[in-house]
Formats: sequence, C-alpha cells, structure tokens
Amino acid sequence: MNESTLHIIITGESGNGRTLMMKKKHLRNLILSTVLIAVLLFVGTITGLHQRKSNIVLQEKVATLSRTLEDKTVGKQERLVAQVGQLKESLAEAKKALAENRREKLAIIDRYETQVSQLEQKRTELFEGSISRLDERSKIIKTMMDKIGVKIEVQDDPGHSGGLYIDPNARLSDRLLDKTDQYLSLIQQLPLGRPINTKITSRYGRRIDPLNSKKAFHAGIDFKGRTGDKVRATGNAVVRLSSYSKGLGNHIILSHGNGYETLYAHLSKRLVKSGDKVVRGQNIGLVGNTGRSTGSHLHYEVHFRTKTVDPMKFMQVAKLLSSK
Ligand SMILES: [Zn+2]
Repeated sequence: MNESTLHIIITGESGNGRTLMMKKKHLRNLILSTVLIAVLLFVGTITGLHQRKSNIVLQEKVATLSRTLEDKTVGKQERLVAQVGQLKESLAEAKKALAENRREKLAIIDRYETQVSQLEQKRTELFEGSISRLDERSKIIKTMMDKIGVKIEVQDDPGHSGGLYIDPNARLSDRLLDKTDQYLSLIQQLPLGRPINTKITSRYGRRIDPLNSKKAFHAGIDFKGRTGDKVRATGNAVVRLSSYSKGLGNHIILSHGNGYETLYAHLSKRLVKSGDKVVRGQNIGLVGNTGRSTGSHLHYEVHFRTKTVDPMKFMQVAKLLSSK
C-alpha cells in the first residue's frame, strides 16, 4: 500500500460501509480550499455588514439633509407668501389712495366750476343792474330836458330823419350806452347851473328898471357880487364874443351848440377871447360894474335860437342832476 494514499471508510446503521480512497496531497488541498473559502466568506460577511452599516448612516444623513432642505424650502416659501401678501396689501392701499386722489381732484374741479358759474351769474346780474340804472338815468335826463324845453332827438329808429342816429341792430346795452353818451355830451354843453354862487338880486321877466324906474323887461338874472369875484362858464362852449359895449360893459358871449348861448355882462375883466374853447366851471372873467350898471353885480342871460329864456329852469335842472 502506498503511504501517500488515505482510505476513508464511512459506515451507515446497516453496517454497509463505503471506502473512499484519497491521496494525502488531495486532502491537504481540499482542507486548504475549505479554509480559504471560509476566510473569504468571513471577510465577505464582515465587509457586507460594514457596508450595510455605512448605508444606514448614509441613509440617515440623506434623511437629515432632506429634512433640513425641506425645512429651509418651507421657510422660504412661507416668507415668499408673506411678502406676496404684503405686496398685495400695498397695491390695494396704493389703489385706494389713487381713487381718493381722483375724487379730491374731481371735487376741486367741481368747486371751481361752481365758483366760475357763480361769478358768471354775478357778472350778468351786475351788467343787467348797470343797464337798468343806465336806462333809469337816461329817462331822468329825458324828463329834465323836457322840463326845460330842450329838444333832443335821441332815437334808434332809422326811418326818422334828423336827430342822433343809433344803429338799430346794436345790442340794447350798446344802444343805451350810446344814447346816454349822447345825453351826457349834450349835458356837458348845455348851460346848466350858476355862473357864480351868490344871491340872486333880480330875476328874469317884467320889472321896474332900476335906473329910470320905468316898466321894463329883464332878459336875464342878476347875481350879487363884489368886483373881482370869479365868473364861471355854465357849460362847455366856444367863446363867440369877448367885447365891451356901452350898455353891457365888458361882456362875453359863449356858444354852446344846439342853438344855445350864454351872456355874462358888466365884468371888470374878461379872461377869454373870441374863438377860445372853454369848459363848464372855467373862470372866464371877474365881476365888475362896467356899462349900464348901478353897482357890482353879474348880469347873466341864456339864449335859445337868439331868443332869451329864463336861466332859472337851467339852474334848477343842474341842481337835480347834481343831487342824482
Ligand atoms: Zn341884469
């Protein structure tokens, strides 16, 4: 028998055995292989266990990170939502403010419009008031003129000849203004008021002559006065005559237009010459005692179309006019 060969006998319960022959060398190899496999299995198991552990740790880390990330994301989202909410609120407030502003502006415009319309109405009322007063005065003037017998043809009917012409197409206000202007211009020329502000010593009409004591007609009014007192023109006029005569002494005749003239007599001094233009109230001479006179006084006459008229009516009208 070969020493290098091993006999392995395996018996069962029945007693039948089996014999396995194996060389030692093979057995050694088998044992070595088994050990090697066991080692490998052990190492593999350890490694697997270790890896498993690592995996668990990793998974935990991943979970933690996920949670952290989730927390962070949720926080961010919440902040964003809050910001969006705030922005929406701000926008709503801005819109509200804008609407308020608009309402205020509209209210201001409304107020201004109301004011403008009120002013417009006031202006219209004032204008109508002026027109009404103008018309009223125009009528007063007309009445006065009628009273002293002054014929002034101020009319707005183009069909009539003569008189002052006023465009019938002009507005009522313009026509009234035109009419009043014409009255005023006429009034400025008419001999109204007193040539001197002193007492009347002799009126217009029949009287006993102071020099010869005979019945006579006094064609004017005598005003008391001291030599040197100022004598004034009773209306705008042109000096027709500035002269001296035996009866009237130093005298001045003013032409007022529309057929009217005034005479100022017995002056001590004449201050205007023929052709001069004078205005109402202007000093034209000084009281005196020249000509047929018994003492210092002013003899004053009003003529209409070369005939004498009572100056008193004109002086009374002037009083009425100044009181208006
Ligand atoms: Zn006289």
